[in-house]
Amino acid sequence: MSDCIFCKIVEGSLPSTKVYEDDRVVAFHDIQPAAPIHILIIPKKHFASLNEAGESDWEVIGQIHKAAQEIAKKLDVADSGYRVVTNCGSNAGQVVHHLHYHLLAGAKLAPLGV
Ligand code: C5P
Repeated sequence: MSDCIFCKIVEGSLPSTKVYEDDRVVAFHDIQPAAPIHILIIPKKHFASLNEAGESDWEVIGQIHKAAQEIAKKLDVADSGYRVVTNCGSNAGQVVHHLHYHLLAGAKLAPLGV
């Protein structure tokens, strides 16, 4: 999608600090980290959120989780612990409408909730 910032990161026309890439997934450091380690993991294919995932997208969503496991090992937070979360829609605070998973680590994280 031409006006999507994460599509631009996938294409390379917007810079990012990548920590992982495979045929269908890219991961990079969040520009406004909410934890000492804050990585965004996204599908190269554009779709807005989990709500828009179709039958053919479950495989790449699995691949995103596999990438999360690999990134956690690579960044040495697999044993200390990490959180993987996706915001879907306005009540969740989704700002960028290209599916993305946040990987948060590097400190004791606050409990989930309102
Ligand atoms: O889940 P949500 O849509 O709220 O999160 C979007 C995330 O994308 C934010 O954490 C923001 O800092 C990040 N971002 C980024 N690089 C951009 C634009 C947004 O890392 N160019």
